[in-house]
Amino acid sequence: MAHCILQIALDTPLDSVFDYRWPCEPGAEPLVGQLALVSFGRREAVGLIVAVKHETDVPADKLKDALAVRSQLAPLSERWIRLARFAAGYYHRPLGEVALPGLPKNLRVPSTVALDRALKKLARLDAAHDAAPAGMPALNSAQRQAADVIGGAQGFTPLLLYGVTGSGKTEVYLQACAQVLARDADAQILVLVPEINLTPQLEANIRARFPGVMLATLHSSLSEGERMLHWLAAHQGRARIVLGTRLAILASLPNLKLIVIDEEHDPSYKQQEGLRYSARDLAVWRAHQLGIPIVLGSATPSLESWHHAQTGRYRKLELRERAVRDAVLPRVRLVDMERDKPREGLTATLMQALRQRLERGEQSLLFLNRRGYAPVLCCDACGWISNCTRCTSFMVLHKPERRLRCHHCSLELRIPHACPTCGNIDLQPLGRGTQRIEEGLQALFPQARILRIDADSTRLKGSAQAAFDSVHRGEVDILIGTQMVAKGHDFKKLSLVGILNPDTALFSQDYRASERLFAQLMQVAGRAGRAGLESEVLIQSRYCTHPLYGAVMRHDYDRFAGDLLEERRQAALPPYMYQALLRAEAPELAVAIAFLEAARDSVAADAIVINDPIPMTMTRVHNVERAQLLVESGSRPALQAFLVQWVDALRALKSRVRWSLEVDPLDI
Ligand code: ADP
Ligand code: ZN
Ligand code: ZN
Repeated sequence: MAHCILQIALDTPLDSVFDYRWPCEPGAEPLVGQLALVSFGRREAVGLIVAVKHETDVPADKLKDALAVRSQLAPLSERWIRLARFAAGYYHRPLGEVALPGLPKNLRVPSTVALDRALKKLARLDAAHDAAPAGMPALNSAQRQAADVIGGAQGFTPLLLYGVTGSGKTEVYLQACAQVLARDADAQILVLVPEINLTPQLEANIRARFPGVMLATLHSSLSEGERMLHWLAAHQGRARIVLGTRLAILASLPNLKLIVIDEEHDPSYKQQEGLRYSARDLAVWRAHQLGIPIVLGSATPSLESWHHAQTGRYRKLELRERAVRDAVLPRVRLVDMERDKPREGLTATLMQALRQRLERGEQSLLFLNRRGYAPVLCCDACGWISNCTRCTSFMVLHKPERRLRCHHCSLELRIPHACPTCGNIDLQPLGRGTQRIEEGLQALFPQARILRIDADSTRLKGSAQAAFDSVHRGEVDILIGTQMVAKGHDFKKLSLVGILNPDTALFSQDYRASERLFAQLMQVAGRAGRAGLESEVLIQSRYCTHPLYGAVMRHDYDRFAGDLLEERRQAALPPYMYQALLRAEAPELAVAIAFLEAARDSVAADAIVINDPIPMTMTRVHNVERAQLLVESGSRPALQAFLVQWVDALRALKSRVRWSLEVDPLDI
């Protein structure tokens, strides 16, 4: 029988695609973009057909037959493959390692039972859910203008929707979506949010507004069955709106006509392991490739996006006021902790404000970005502290769980009864986490309904949603939480935000720390007074005159961003510089450093700054020592050209050191 050659990308760590033979008559060849099952080494693997040819360099006795082609599944489009190719090229990873993990797991298994079942289920599914669409509120004029620009944009149009917290950005997205869906009966829209916890709120809004439109969600807490079904709905073009977290940027969307990235500044859009991609950056590329509009929304845009808006690459749409009538931005006040000494972590000023809210039946939010009871346990007698034995970090005291936990390597120990060094039984927690604040609040306000929301309190599936729902229903008086509660949520009865301990970030080594802290404070402050209640934000600090706090008090993102950009320009930092970071891990630091030194010397470089290797700030994690080497250039193409050569040279070093390369790193 005649045959053809399939070039197949597999999820392997080496940069290669593999040729397989496929028996078929001429004219009946499989298509590029179809999935195929092959044997690879000793296992069977599903790969993506990236080319169909008639010749190969592989000797006939080495050439294996592909085992099956998934002909029941429509091929992934050439455009989708080009997106995967771009990501693979830009982040310097093999194509298969980008393309295949982007697909649902059940598509990548030898059996087709799950696929066939999902296809059947989808075929039976009716798009119309019957209900009448919820009414569209009348937009104010700034919203109207923004929605019309987005909804009417043709061709590649990057738009920065810069709107203060509570300015009604969601409503703008929804009405722009309505225009796009109405204009084009096949149009698909991709909406990305930074946090999984924000999907239910937006999902409910979208469903109410577009009852006849099929919506698919894509995020990491779906079951494999759900993920398969939702992915297929998007792939077949039936899901008109796809709502997801960063991983949804690789969804197959044959009729994509608009991309919305909410809270575009959020660091969660950056994947921090494996393929370290920025979903926001890939989204902009995808919009460019397809020639469609993309909206990046934020009250505190990333300096990268702000810079693009200032230079005219992105068009800026502004919402300067809150949307709800009479709602104004909260008054922000600093509370000097040197004068007003805190008790249980709370100053008298903050306690008084909490008491007032309790009397009025309004809600308060206390924000502390540190979970656990106390960041460290120590012995006053001999100076012992609860270091992690495997990491350069402390074991955090978790009182309800009666454990010491390392947040970096997950080591867990029972809380010791006595000091391991001197036997002293009076061990002291040092500092405060959310659990300790919660305990203090319960003692101070026994009548109040207090709820803590953090990664520990929401470990069980569905528990985060249940917790947020109870806040929305008004069953909570004081909410205490980490960054999980700081963004996006629209709590209508909330009129007080207390920010407990933001000072540490003021003096961080990380050049992005102030940008991040500012955004975080603006976001959490923005949870107050959204429905028109008179509201205030109290920041407890020992550095009340710090200019960053001044900018938060004035809600002055524009000037703050302008100043930071000027600093970045003078210091030659992003967005004026393009960076890549090479990380090395080894049992001994000297070995990691030696590898990086060899890496530094492995190629000659023009127009590239190659810095010296240094240990990472948190040098040891899980008994592995880590070091890094930063390379920089004022030109993105020059940096990319260098990285192509460099990755080859790094492979040729054949070192046993584990290394990884990150392009556009966020943490350096
Ligand atoms: P943002 O995302 O900009 O912080 P939201 O989209 O959550 O703000 O909107 C804040 C609040 O304003 C929500 O309760 C929303 O229902 C309300 N809202 C938005 N637009 C309007 C409008 N045009 N008229 C009245 N209320 C509005
Ligand atoms: Zn001791
Ligand atoms: Zn550890």
